[in-house]
Formats: sequence, C-alpha cells, structure tokens
Amino acid sequence: MIIDISSLLHKKSCEVEYDLIPDDVEIILPEGKLDFSKDILFNFKLQLLNEIITIVGIIKTQVMLQCSRCAEEFAYDINLDVFEEFTINKDLVDEDIALIINEKIDISRIVSDNILINLPIAKVCKEGCKGLCHKCGTNLNKEKCDCHNEEIDDRLKVLQEFLKLI
Ligand SMILES: [Zn+2]
Ligand SMILES: [Zn+2]
Repeated sequence: MIIDISSLLHKKSCEVEYDLIPDDVEIILPEGKLDFSKDILFNFKLQLLNEIITIVGIIKTQVMLQCSRCAEEFAYDINLDVFEEFTINKDLVDEDIALIINEKIDISRIVSDNILINLPIAKVCKEGCKGLCHKCGTNLNKEKCDCHNEEIDDRLKVLQEFLKLI
C-alpha cells in the first residue's frame, strides 16, 4: 500500500490522520511466511513541518507463531507504537530520516519493518510451557510420558546425593 503525499508537500505544515488496513504486507521469516490471524490496522498521524514528515501511529494485528518449545501454533497480539521520519530534501537525510521518492510513502514497508523488528526472539506459547519430551516427543503440556527424565536440576542432584548418605 502506497500513499501519495504530493498534495501535502506544497504546504509548509499540515497534519493528516489515516486509518488504514494494508492488505499487502508480507513478512518472510526463516521458518516461512508469517501468518496474520487478524487484519492489520494502522492508525497514524502524518505531520509535515520544515520539510520533515513525521509519522506517529499504532499498528494493531495478531499473528500466528510456532512455539520453540512445544512446536504448537499460538496467537500473538501485536500492538506497536510507530515513529518514522521522512524528507524530500536530500540534505536532511540521515540514518533516521529517509528520503521520499516520487512523493510517495510505502505504508506496507513501514508496517512490515516495524512488525519484524518487534517479534519476540523467544517464541514461547505461554509462560512455563513444558515443551516436548526429548525422548518420545510427547507434548508435556497435554500429557505425561513414561520416559525417565534424566535431566535433573543440579540443586536436586545435590539433594539426591545427600539423601543417599542418610
Ligand atoms: Zn509451547
Ligand atoms: Zn517421553
């Protein structure tokens, strides 16, 4: 989704509010294409002042992620504050201020970049997810298995040794 801001650029300063549902946002992760389970709502104010365009807004949506412990899919709510700066003046461009090309701003790009950098690094379905049994692969959140769990916490090991002594 591209918005044309040519009509705004003739003004010295202005403020416009947008409420958009960009439907062409695509995010590719190493494990595949990111699934959106809700519309992507992007509400923002576009402000032009002294050749700098500032976009301040909120992105709301929901994506499906795969738990890195139990491999189950889970819904993850996204609620992001967005702050972006653009300019039409090449001299003002720096690492935070991007150049506007052809008087257009690519909204889908802003949305995908912001979602991507804010995805959780540890994708876990819930706090305390027990994950899969290393031996038989049972999802330990749903059922127990009969495998003997050899990975005992170090503190427990000390206790075990102690109990052998008495
Ligand atoms: Zn999980
Ligand atoms: Zn098992």
